[in-house]
Amino acid sequence: MSKTTPLMMQYQRIKNNYPGAILFFRLGDFYEMFGEDAKVASRLLEITLTARHKIPMCGVPHHSAVNYIARLVKQGQKVAVCEQMEAPVIGKGIVKREVVRLITPGTILEDNLLSEEKNNFLAAIYINPKILEGVKFSGLNANSKIGLSFTDISTGEFLTTEICGKHIVDKLSNELSRFQPSECILPCFMEGKKDFLDFLKRWNISVNFIEDWRYEKASIYQKLIRQFKVASLKGFDLEDKEEAVFSSGAIVAYLEDTQQKTHLAHINHLQWYSTENFMILDKSTQENLELVMGLSTKTKKNSLFEVLDYTLTPMGTRTLRRWILEPLIDVEKIQARQKANAEFFLDNVLRKSIQEELKKISDLERLISRLSCGTANARDLVALKNSLKVVPLIKEKMNNVHCSFLRNLVKRLSDLKEVYGLIENSIVDEPPVSLKEGGLIKKGYHLELDKINQARSEGKNWILNLEKKEKERTGINSLKIGFTSVFGYYIELTKANLANVPENYIRKQTLTNAERFITPELKEQESFILGAEEKLINLEHEVFQKIREKVIRKTVAIQEVSLALSVLDAILSLAEAAVINDYCRPEVTNDSRFVIREGRHPVVEKALVGTGFIPNDIQIDGKENQILIITGPNMAGKSTYIRQVALIALMAQIGSFIPAKEAELGVVDRIFTRIGAADNLSAGESTFMVEMNETANILNNATSRSLLILDEVGRGTSTFDGVSIAWASVEYLHSKKDKDTNQGPRTLFATHYFELTELARILKGVKNYNIAVREWNDEIIFLRKIIEGSADKSYGIHVAKLAGLPAGVIDRAKDILVELEKNVYKETNVLKLNDSIETSDTKQLNLFAEQQNLLMEELKSLPIDGLTPLEALNKLQELKKRTIKLKKDDNNNA
Ligand code: ATP
Repeated sequence: MSKTTPLMMQYQRIKNNYPGAILFFRLGDFYEMFGEDAKVASRLLEITLTARHKIPMCGVPHHSAVNYIARLVKQGQKVAVCEQMEAPVIGKGIVKREVVRLITPGTILEDNLLSEEKNNFLAAIYINPKILEGVKFSGLNANSKIGLSFTDISTGEFLTTEICGKHIVDKLSNELSRFQPSECILPCFMEGKKDFLDFLKRWNISVNFIEDWRYEKASIYQKLIRQFKVASLKGFDLEDKEEAVFSSGAIVAYLEDTQQKTHLAHINHLQWYSTENFMILDKSTQENLELVMGLSTKTKKNSLFEVLDYTLTPMGTRTLRRWILEPLIDVEKIQARQKANAEFFLDNVLRKSIQEELKKISDLERLISRLSCGTANARDLVALKNSLKVVPLIKEKMNNVHCSFLRNLVKRLSDLKEVYGLIENSIVDEPPVSLKEGGLIKKGYHLELDKINQARSEGKNWILNLEKKEKERTGINSLKIGFTSVFGYYIELTKANLANVPENYIRKQTLTNAERFITPELKEQESFILGAEEKLINLEHEVFQKIREKVIRKTVAIQEVSLALSVLDAILSLAEAAVINDYCRPEVTNDSRFVIREGRHPVVEKALVGTGFIPNDIQIDGKENQILIITGPNMAGKSTYIRQVALIALMAQIGSFIPAKEAELGVVDRIFTRIGAADNLSAGESTFMVEMNETANILNNATSRSLLILDEVGRGTSTFDGVSIAWASVEYLHSKKDKDTNQGPRTLFATHYFELTELARILKGVKNYNIAVREWNDEIIFLRKIIEGSADKSYGIHVAKLAGLPAGVIDRAKDILVELEKNVYKETNVLKLNDSIETSDTKQLNLFAEQQNLLMEELKSLPIDGLTPLEALNKLQELKKRTIKLKKDDNNNA
């Protein structure tokens, strides 16, 4: 093959239309890639790179291509699939080829490339270029506005919103964390905004640009009304929302560019949403609380999602996952879900019997999408029929439900009898996967089809009879009639019988032990049968298309049923989880009181079956019990406790029951977490920097209705810096009160800095709690019970011993601890830094010199209330520098 062969010219012509994609060029049973595409694909797919006439080339077998495409798309590549559009005919030149699909990370429709449990969103972000003129993205101010849209073309969802006001960048970040899009469309001018592109990298999003001139208001507006088949955008509440219109229009434009061959009629509704309707969960909170993915597993395993997921349909699973990432904040809406949940919780028989029906329902959302896009086969239609068959049964079972939430769901479950009847009458119950082999349509549905079928059967019978007839005529018992796609029908005789070949047999093919013959009548029947078969297949395909068209006309109604079923499935799942895990129904209020009796950690308790999870209470509010400082030895269960409180708040707000005996929970507008020490070294941030970024975010954004979970803030730096930052942070949060309600953010602060327990004496609303342990024969027993008051020791050395540190190290650590305690915590519980201890080689450690003590005094007398956060940070920086310098001087003197 050389560049000038007709095939290569065809390749090049097609490739020119898809410069940004890897072209999968169908050649017989393979998809071949050439040139740069071959180099990239062979590297990413780890397949051999060959060359033909010096052109790099690699290929994959067509039957397993989908796996290779999946791997490329996962790595951010676009793949253009080019098929042979006709069967090759010898002597007719090269076959017609066309790109039938362009698959990008955000436009996947292929079922086996998608996860059933997760949506696959394509996003678009729009910011007016004037706003970003000469400004960095991170410097966007409160007057800016961002348009944000998402679509999942595999389910037909299309959502849009606008973000504005204070902390606009954080808000965008939260939305991206919630939707986790795999691809994002931006205006071209943003190619120059490096800080923005770096920001997007956090979500591993593949980015594509649309020329700036295409953001022209009138034409974008036209695109939208064309896609959504409406006269204006008023019905979507988008008339005065320019940014959202632009981001939505960009998605439609991108789909028009890339999915020309795919009908997207199932994307028929544009939904405006407000970020104000949901509890805000930023990226780190989502990850730290292991909501939909375990921190260590990086999968659903060990997540809250895993514990709550008893859904039985893929769309129900996706709905539940979405609910977990967008808890409600409207008490009425929460209570409505709760009531529905309660009905199923209390009625085991009803729950189980509906679940039995749900098991029979397929992924309707994606099925409808495939139908619309023209990729659905007859099996999809049968799956749709079988799903619809169940709907009236579910409706009937739900006849006596009480709450309005469930009654509304029942109303939305229309029978769609016509669609069911159409498929039931027309498509066979077990059709083949391929649409090109025939055998799709039921007898009696189409007169012409039946006639051809009849004729074909008669022809086949004639051939069957012929075998019998010829056996008798020739007296050759081994005579048989066969068929190959190359030679057609033939009569086969073994070599031993060749002497008795009748005269009218015409020799066609010689095999080792046999000869094959034809007769003119056999050929005549053959062309009749083959003609009938071709007609049959073509007509069946035509009839099938018509049936499909009729079903597509009901897309909106089927989508509505699918939506109602997905909500029903998610509610049933919550009820099932509540029964299995012995949850209780919390009272959700608009108050700030947050009281839980005998609460448990929903995920940890699952892992402790047998040993048993010890439940704990909590009482927190925005006033008298605003900040709980939680101390206790290592391994006591502090982190588990504070996470469990956050998870319970979240569960309650998605309408779930909770792992507790009883609870009264004041709605939380946002959960903040500062947990663990996750490095972000790839973004050039150290562990401590990440910790401080998160702390800054919390201090800046927490509202009086927020719940804050802070685990060992300050531990990533030296003790002095750490204590100071932790102390100042608590003071700041304590002072951050709402003017009207006088409430501050409810805060749980787990720490090993016992110094912080002093705050409870100084600040009203700060309370000390600790997780009890008992000492016994130099061992500690973890009681896992939270009690009021502060802990007195860390027992870190005990835990180190449990972890298997060498005995020598443990003994030595104990000696050092005794010395440190003598000197550091002299009269009070407050750090006194003025002594030294002997090391084993009698060299002075001189950890806490006199000078440093002065620094400490200076820190203590800082008028924190009178400092702005920036001044406080600058002062901290200065104190830190001086401490480091002191240490250096000290080391030099030693
Ligand atoms: P460190 O200070 O070392 O980080 P910690 O006090 O935060 O420790 P956790 O990590 O919360 O301790 O808990 C340690 C282990 O104790 C958990 O992995 C869990 O197995 C167990 N645990 C925690 N809470 C409970 C409980 N209420 N009942 C039973 N086991 C518990």
